[in-house]
Amino acid sequence: MGKLRVWIDRDQCIADMICVSLCPDVFEMSEEDGKSQIVAKWRPDESKVGEGIVPEDLKDCVQSAVDACPVSIIHMEPVEG
Ligand code: SF4
Repeated sequence: MGKLRVWIDRDQCIADMICVSLCPDVFEMSEEDGKSQIVAKWRPDESKVGEGIVPEDLKDCVQSAVDACPVSIIHMEPVEG
């Protein structure tokens, strides 16, 4: 099973929760600053809340958020190897 790197340019998040409503397995709203972040279990580095490595079976879910984010700040790429 391949994996995907997913990241959010959180500085530009307008907190409309579209990614969370489309793909709650991967995205959640931060209680700290009210912006989108990656669900904790997918974060390789707990201090980087906007970065995650997720299994490939969540690709469609993440892609729906990538496509729907109104400010286009969600990104996804395959993890090599
Ligand atoms: S869809 Fe984009 S702007 Fe909206 S909460 Fe998610 S990351 Fe932020």
